[in-house]
Amino acid sequence: MASTPSPVAIITGSSRGIGAACARELALAGYRVVVNYLNNAEAAEHVCSSIIDNGGEAITCQANVGNRSDRERIIQQTHDAFGRLDLLVNNAGITSQGRRDLLEATEESWDMVFDTNLKGPFFLSQLAAKQMLSNQCGPNGVIVNINSISSYAISENRADYCIAKAGLETMTKVFASRLASEQILVYEVCPGVIASDMTAPVKEKYDRLISEGLSPIQRWGTVEDVATAVRILASGDLSFSTGERLNVDGGFHIRRL
Ligand code: NDP
Repeated sequence: MASTPSPVAIITGSSRGIGAACARELALAGYRVVVNYLNNAEAAEHVCSSIIDNGGEAITCQANVGNRSDRERIIQQTHDAFGRLDLLVNNAGITSQGRRDLLEATEESWDMVFDTNLKGPFFLSQLAAKQMLSNQCGPNGVIVNINSISSYAISENRADYCIAKAGLETMTKVFASRLASEQILVYEVCPGVIASDMTAPVKEKYDRLISEGLSPIQRWGTVEDVATAVRILASGDLSFSTGERLNVDGGFHIRRL
């Protein structure tokens, strides 16, 4: 009997930060991975070669998730290289451009943030789901969206980011509901404050907030904390759960008095 081929994962924005950690973690778990990036080819190549050096399989794929033809190219290159798709991790994301106060927020930032953080995941998930349904054998697939505590904890200087992430929560549920009958599970991981290039410019602020008790577990989250959660959800082991959120936030979401 023919054995099921190794599963294939696309991780958007995996040249750096949380995405890079997910690519490494999933490769160690046996996935063949597509390392997507926007500009940073060198970093993407580095992630890819470290996976290959460890005995895994990986390719890089330059594509802007906010652009339709680029999204189609990610799916096509994945199919050309590996012939199937089992997992999409919608990780690529940017913060509000300039972190301006609400009253000074710009349309340019809104459009960039929404294209990258919400429109991209929505239409890439649509393409990925169709691709997963064409797998010749094995289970149909899993989609994991990387959301944020900013989907419910607002920042007045990142309104577009917060609103896009709030939309991603509903997107997770809509896809979970529609794709359940297709045997595709859909989840979201909700990181708290994670050390990465995104949070480097506000490190001192978060150092202070964490030391003052921002979350019950008093430390920065790591990109590996998030990658572990993605691997667990991607496993398909939670086969009667879909549309779920897994918080990776040191307990930040717990309302306290
Ligand atoms: P980083 O800024 O460290 O990395 C961003 C990654 O996304 C890079 O690989 C970048 O590629 C890629 N990227 C950016 N824009 C696009 C695009 N249009 N198309 C394709 N790839 C793109 O971010 P983090 O690792 O910190 O964040 C990853 C995700 O986690 C985001 O969705 C973010 O909102 C979320 N998150 C992060 C938290 C944190 O504290 N860090 C907390 C909660 C959620 P390149 O290298 O080419 O620029």
